[in-house]
Amino acid sequence: MEKNNIKKQNVYVSEEEKTLIWENVQESFKKTFGGEIYNSWLQKISLVKEYNDYLILGVPTRFFRDWIVSRYLDKILEQVKSFKLSLNRIEFKIIEEVKQNQELAKINELNKVTEIRDSILNYNRLNPSLSFANFIQGKSNDIALSYSKKVCEHISRYNPLYICGGVGLGKTHLLNAIGLSLQNNNNVMFISAERFMYHFIKSIKKNDMVNFKDFFRKSSVFIIDDIQFISGKESLQEEFFHTFNSLMDKGSQIIISSDRAPMKLDRVQDRIKSRLSGGLVVDIEIPDLELKSKIIKKKIEEIENQFKEKISLSDEVINFIASESKTNIRELIGILNRVIAFSRVHNKNLNINDCKNILKDVFNQIRVITVDKIQNVVSNYFNIALSEMLSQRRSRPLARPRQIAMYLAKKMTSRSLPEIGRRFANRDHTTVIHAVKTISRLSEQDDEMKKNISQIKSLLLDQQ
Ligand code: ADP
Ligand code: MG
Repeated sequence: MEKNNIKKQNVYVSEEEKTLIWENVQESFKKTFGGEIYNSWLQKISLVKEYNDYLILGVPTRFFRDWIVSRYLDKILEQVKSFKLSLNRIEFKIIEEVKQNQELAKINELNKVTEIRDSILNYNRLNPSLSFANFIQGKSNDIALSYSKKVCEHISRYNPLYICGGVGLGKTHLLNAIGLSLQNNNNVMFISAERFMYHFIKSIKKNDMVNFKDFFRKSSVFIIDDIQFISGKESLQEEFFHTFNSLMDKGSQIIISSDRAPMKLDRVQDRIKSRLSGGLVVDIEIPDLELKSKIIKKKIEEIENQFKEKISLSDEVINFIASESKTNIRELIGILNRVIAFSRVHNKNLNINDCKNILKDVFNQIRVITVDKIQNVVSNYFNIALSEMLSQRRSRPLARPRQIAMYLAKKMTSRSLPEIGRRFANRDHTTVIHAVKTISRLSEQDDEMKKNISQIKSLLLDQQ
């Protein structure tokens, strides 16, 4: 329907006639709306198609579209019009879903990863771009990398292989690489502990535990990411323990990642900790300058190949970026992307001073903030127990902090609404939408709320 309409009413703008440079429009959004609104919303809008009198813009979700349309549409139109006078209409298209489906279909073809029909497929996929080929070796990850490769050569010699290390240091990348390398000859299962729990609970609700057990126990390579997630979840631990044992019994290779060593796992049964440490435990440490520079160079190369363009950053700038990002590689890549984006927009080679200016703004924004962290900080701030904040009780002193935490989770992490809902004792995504709307409204109207939100935000940003 939509397509037909477009065809009838409008003529495509040919390549030469395209006038909009989306980066410039984005820059003007940033100036007009301010950093916060820009980062949370407008930055995520992409240009899908340009017609002579109207545009189709891409947005990630329906909720996102509704939010933007109800609050910012007039201003957006006004801004874009200042770049393109003939414009009189904007339409939004939800593109993430489409893209996701395409990607899924593609990956489905590539992979032989087992699937519980439909639902699990989404989360049990290996990312073809996280392979050994683009994992850079350094002192901090040397041992983890070499044993990951050894596991691929000799299945079940090191069993389980347990890889631990802090956030953003390459655990998921390594797990993925192992999965990719083994998937042609094995039945590979790759799942995060969080997803494992989600399916576990769903199967209990649907009274379908038999399928669940079968499904997870038939893999010959079982890779589970972020096992620390099972902390404090007794029945999940029980199930995991049985899955683990039955896989080990039949000689399947198990690979696990976690943010800490097995014995340091909090609120996890001793018998599980000891099973987890029963194979080989390897660490990934904080990267040194050399590794960080190498990764930057590799990333630049990847981007150049992908977009067929030359990116010229001097060694001086590369070293500067490497030395400025202290803690993790995800952050390093985030910074690099910003720097590259900036140099594209301004069409110039950057010097250290430019970088310093860019980084001043970005550092606070791209620190990794997790839902867990937000929940902890918010419950501390209001002086209530975390368990109460997550509970089903609806009294205002608990409900407000809960809503604030949901709101911040939406604003400050990249988690989707359903994911956030699940982190709040399995609430529905509509509850999260309601919280986001309520707190957004209150933080505009109510000074106390405004103050609370800004204090909590600075706690979160300072805590890094
Ligand atoms: P973790 O799971 O430990 O939090 P990830 O595996 O998600 O971390 O890594 C964060 C980002 O850094 C990813 O984009 C990953 O590809 C990249 N990365 C981490 N280590 C390396 C490395 N040694 N070489 C190349 N990229 C890396
Ligand atoms: Mg990870």
